Amino acid sequence: MKKPGLLFVVSGPSGVGKGTVCDVLLRRAPSVFKSVSATTRKMRPGEAEGVNYYYLTDAQFDAMEKEDKFLEHFEIYGNRYGTPREAVEKKLNEGLDVLLEIDVQGALAVKQKCPDALMIFLLPPSFEQLERRLRGRKTENESAIRRRLAAAEAEMGHMSEYHYAVVNDDPDLAAERILRILKEEKTRPARGTGEVQIVR
Ligand code: ADP
Ligand code: 5GP
Repeated sequence: MKKPGLLFVVSGPSGVGKGTVCDVLLRRAPSVFKSVSATTRKMRPGEAEGVNYYYLTDAQFDAMEKEDKFLEHFEIYGNRYGTPREAVEKKLNEGLDVLLEIDVQGALAVKQKCPDALMIFLLPPSFEQLERRLRGRKTENESAIRRRLAAAEAEMGHMSEYHYAVVNDDPDLAAERILRILKEEKTRPARGTGEVQIVR
């Protein structure tokens, strides 16, 4: 029997750079499997089915929810998102480390259900930087940006519920910090229960 992999969560407010940092991390660590979420949101240009998400109708999402096929699921900014349970369990049993790149509500739900999960919060260098990144990405209109910034304030309040808070001043450096944490945590018998450690 292979030693099971480590389940880790990279979370944080919208626009902090989760997608960017996780892409770097995955290029550097091919043994990490990123869970592909299901969503009811529309596919954006450049995205592909089964790569970025599994794109479901509301009815399909309802069916998966009813059959308890999600590890966690939430409505975020008017769309539904969920982590399919089966692939996560399969990959962990194969010995791969599994990355969940999910929002803060989802992360806290995973922490409840999987107490061994390693919880990493991605921090912007400042709130002004977060706003600049959200605007710079040009994927949301003004009202959506304001909604995300208001949510970000509340989400930052949950930072203390994570094991680590990694500053994303630079995507390469942030990915490196996460990989270092993973390496250290894989040799520990149990997750720490102390205060969140800020890594910059
Ligand atoms: P999230 O997945 O958390 O919503 P993204 O990965 O989409 O965030 O990043 C939001 C925007 O910020 C993108 O335009 C991205 O290129 C940019 N970005 C990400 N990390 C950094 C960084 N360290 N410095 C400057 N810009 C960044
Ligand atoms: P986007 O629509 O921009 O791809 O993602 C919006 C938000 O949903 C991001 O914060 C992203 O991390 C989060 N997200 C993506 N997949 C999941 C998931 O399966 N569960 C939860 N809770 N959040 C998710």
